[in-house]
Amino acid sequence: MTDAPAASRPTRDRPALKDWSLDELGERCVEAGWPRYRGVQIAGWIYGRGVEDPAGMTDLPAELREGLAQRWALRSLEVAEVQRSRDGTVKARLRGDDGAEIESVLIPEGDRNTLCVSTQVGCPLACSFCATGALGFRRNLRVGEIVDQVCRMRELLPEGQRITNLVFMGMGEPLLNRPALVRAIRTFQEPKAFAFGPRKITVSTAGVVPQIGRLLDEVDVNLAVSLHATTDALRDELVPINRSFPLEVLLGALRESPHFSRRRPVFFEYTLIAGVNDAPEDAMRLVGRLRGIPAKVNLIPMNPHADSAARPPAAKAIDAFAEVLLRRGLRATVRRPRGDDIDAACGQLHNRRHPERAGVAAVGPA
Ligand code: SF4
Repeated sequence: MTDAPAASRPTRDRPALKDWSLDELGERCVEAGWPRYRGVQIAGWIYGRGVEDPAGMTDLPAELREGLAQRWALRSLEVAEVQRSRDGTVKARLRGDDGAEIESVLIPEGDRNTLCVSTQVGCPLACSFCATGALGFRRNLRVGEIVDQVCRMRELLPEGQRITNLVFMGMGEPLLNRPALVRAIRTFQEPKAFAFGPRKITVSTAGVVPQIGRLLDEVDVNLAVSLHATTDALRDELVPINRSFPLEVLLGALRESPHFSRRRPVFFEYTLIAGVNDAPEDAMRLVGRLRGIPAKVNLIPMNPHADSAARPPAAKAIDAFAEVLLRRGLRATVRRPRGDDIDAACGQLHNRRHPERAGVAAVGPA
């Protein structure tokens, strides 16, 4: 459980400080009768140094320190539960001020610590292999709730370590919450706040085509696309938003986008499911579909979960699939599942232990 000081626990009584940009924080300081530059100082403590108890903000005057937590909520989420995987992956259930719960996953790998961030409570897109999709949708996360996932999760790292990469691949479709997502990314990239570099942040989409260009016009981040199929018939089933934006529309938009190059490719996520999309013909078709797009393919063997009968292919079939792509010059890697013993792997986030706490009824596989 969290050890947050009572004054900084999430509450609806006070405005949430993490909902604001640094400029807005400066303005709020002026409204409170404090100099504008105090906003940057406060952000430096909270985001840069991870100090959320005003008593620890030692270069602020006593009157400001006292006023801070009385006026504004400094936390938007509290940690409800933490699970640690055998492989070092850490999953936390995080609770907002209305009781809605999400999950964030920390994936340590060598000198990298990647945080998988959620953007919605549940998800409306109902991808058939995804446990979050099976939950349905409750609401979008607020800016502060997206930002606070980094603050809460970095406290779970060993002393001296920091989160190095952010991937928006947790619960929800990020592009259906684009305004809050963009504001949160600006705080993550702000040098006086978290100072993440552009190539350290990846936003993953199931293919909400009209929002892709808008996102990339607004912020400089990596884009990942959850592809999973090479025919519309199969993708309609696996990723139902394909019925609105079929493969030619999605891939055509990416091919024509000015945002991508060999150095800044589109990352395609392709979940390999035994007997469904793992045949050599699928691999050949994938090569053809991606022609003309600067691309990198992440092959992800299906993470089995209770809400789906789908299973991963045998290791031999996975290697053969990757081989077809590599031989034809497509950059491809196989991503081994992480945290699957605690349901923290891709497509497994769904408050399995407490589905009722997500605030939505579990409706079963789509
Ligand atoms: S895979 Fe992503 S977009 Fe699809 S249902 Fe799951 S969370 Fe939503």
